[in-house]
Amino acid sequence: MKRVGAHVSIAGGVENAPLNALGIGARAFAMFTRNQRQWSSPELSAHSIEAFRQNCHNAGFLPEQILPHDSYLINLGNPEPDKLDKSRNAFITEMKRTELLGLSMLNFHPGSHLNLVAEDECLRLIAESLNLSLEATRGVTAVIENTAGQGSNLGCRFEHLAMIIDLVEDKSRIGVCLDTCHLFASGYDLRTPEAFEAMLAEFDRTVGLRYLRGMHLNDAKQPLGSRVDRHECIGKGMIGIEAFAHIMRHPALEEIPLILETPDSDGWAEEIKMLYGLV
Ligand SMILES: [Zn+2]
Ligand SMILES: [Zn+2]
Repeated sequence: MKRVGAHVSIAGGVENAPLNALGIGARAFAMFTRNQRQWSSPELSAHSIEAFRQNCHNAGFLPEQILPHDSYLINLGNPEPDKLDKSRNAFITEMKRTELLGLSMLNFHPGSHLNLVAEDECLRLIAESLNLSLEATRGVTAVIENTAGQGSNLGCRFEHLAMIIDLVEDKSRIGVCLDTCHLFASGYDLRTPEAFEAMLAEFDRTVGLRYLRGMHLNDAKQPLGSRVDRHECIGKGMIGIEAFAHIMRHPALEEIPLILETPDSDGWAEEIKMLYGLV
């Protein structure tokens, strides 16, 4: 079964996320575990944790269908030691929140070298951050998202993801989330079934399809290889509907969360329905 959802709001408490997902007809969802624009947040209350678990259970959402996303402030490859420490601590806190909620994955953007160190050095810092975070927590898989390659962000080449995974000690707790807008912006074409298959074959050769834990479904406002991260509603951007129809029929993409991060949240219920109609 295909599991399409969206990155839903946690306004009023994390326990509202599964309810918001249910309300738009989602079979998977993403969320933040806290206010993503601040470095620290109050601890999750016992009530919130219990209500979240109960709401997921009632709605039939399993942990492997829920892909929480970390804060945008975190840079696990920050070359400045004090800032790197701050990011690592914040990431470990988010991994622990994920664990407390009974979830099994945390999605993150790899990091940026900020033009202070070479790419390889930054990738090594990211892998070291992951090793520390996995050691400090239990049961949660860190899911790297490919990026658009905007600015000094790494993760826009499959080789970056492969190098990070190669340096992570516990390979059972590392995964990948492929974002369609980021793929397209970083130069991986996926507009036709042939292009999509070539991209996926390259991913399999370089990284390994077995690491794929989810996808973000976004059309792109900017052309192929723009390295600009601007999401568009499905079928209304430069990628086009054919790619998403192919994804919805693809046998290798069953049961993993396929998450919308498209700009019009009021249109998500319709967008999800339209995607299911393409199967
Ligand atoms: Zn994304
Ligand atoms: Zn993006």
